[in-house]
Amino acid sequence: MELFKPLNVQDNKTPNIKEGVEKERVKCLIIGSGPAGYTAAIYASRANLNPVLYEGLQPGGQLTTTTEVENFPGYPQGVTGPVMMEDLKAQAARFGADIRFGLATSVDFSGELKFVTIDGSKTIEAETVIIATGAEAQYLGLPDEKKYAGSGVSACATCDGFFYRGKDVAVVGGGDTACEEAIYLAGLCKKVYLIVRRDVLRASKVMQERLFKTANIEILWKHQTAGLFGNGVVEGATLIQNKGEANETEVKIAIDGFFLAIGHKPNSAIFKPLVETDEVGYIKTIGATSKTSVEGVFACGDVMDPIYRQAVTAAGSGCKAAIDAERYLSEKH
Ligand code: FAD
Ligand code: NAP
Repeated sequence: MELFKPLNVQDNKTPNIKEGVEKERVKCLIIGSGPAGYTAAIYASRANLNPVLYEGLQPGGQLTTTTEVENFPGYPQGVTGPVMMEDLKAQAARFGADIRFGLATSVDFSGELKFVTIDGSKTIEAETVIIATGAEAQYLGLPDEKKYAGSGVSACATCDGFFYRGKDVAVVGGGDTACEEAIYLAGLCKKVYLIVRRDVLRASKVMQERLFKTANIEILWKHQTAGLFGNGVVEGATLIQNKGEANETEVKIAIDGFFLAIGHKPNSAIFKPLVETDEVGYIKTIGATSKTSVEGVFACGDVMDPIYRQAVTAAGSGCKAAIDAERYLSEKH
């Protein structure tokens, strides 16, 4: 096993791999170019798996939509998301990972060789597949969410909460994530509004108790967000209380940050009929490994992680997936 080759060693491409052919055989196919996919590519290249990685529609993944990343180890001064992802890509390319633009559009995992169609036209026959397609935060669908993206609107309190220290913010949602994010933000911010569309929370009782005990959280029951306002950055939100009822009222709150916590959608649709997922669509992995319900198919990052969803945890699981793929192949050959 060659997981730890010396630095500066370039892998030679497998001779039967040629760009532009309709069918191509690879040892290791990585789908997705976020921290999980690129880390898998770094490890797989260094283990001589000659990985081919398809970037998908968002090369670099979710972090390319953010500015500062301050919690990824190794960047003492912080780094912007796009720069960090270019660094990861360059590191994977340095060891010979074949990184390509393209979208996996369908898969056939029924046999020992896995067939993955790229852009509806090209077929990759892969001995192993690493799924690293991430997840997307759900948004309300308001035009203002796009208008103030990166200027007060966030879907990750752990990532962005620090920028709102001592300020007033709002969290939307009534599930465990919303409560957890509100409690986390309450430790950093002056005041946290929790905007809940019903008069009950969906969150677990234990989470609700923690929420109710936190002094600087105010729950706005039966409120829905109509829009955001502010001069270039979020300065407040317009809410509708008791929407559709006789006593419907418009309410304005002054806030600096607006956090969405209304759920995530894992990008697992094309794998779902073949690979076991939970009810939300997160790919299930076996124990502490990255193995899925299909032999030779591994999953890493946000697409299999309903809990942590951080760049560093995604990268860590990408490392695990490449090691699992390498061990699977060495046991077979
Ligand atoms: P992603 O980054 O989601 O990447 C998924 C990749 O899969 C993309 O490249 C996409 O193009 C590709 N893909 C999807 N479908 C297909 C397909 N069918 N074929 C081919 N490719 C496909 N985390 C932190 O630790 N610190 C932060 O400061 C931080 N800030 C954040 C700020 C924002 C605005 C957001 C949205 C998230 C933030 N996060 C942060 C969370 C972090 O971005 C994610 O946890 C991390 O990116 C997950 O990595 P991933 O590799 O699993 O997936
Ligand atoms: P969730 O349980 O699906 O809750 C989503 C919340 O967002 C619900 O309260 C929902 O309201 C609200 N919502 C959805 N669409 C909305 C809209 N358009 N406008 C306003 N509100 C909207 O999602 P989650 O909180 O992300 O949790 C996902 C899973 O992870 C759950 O199983 C949860 O238990 C688990 N989780 C556990 C922990 C923990 O145990 N520490 C932490 C986080 C998550 P309604 O209630 O009205 O539908």
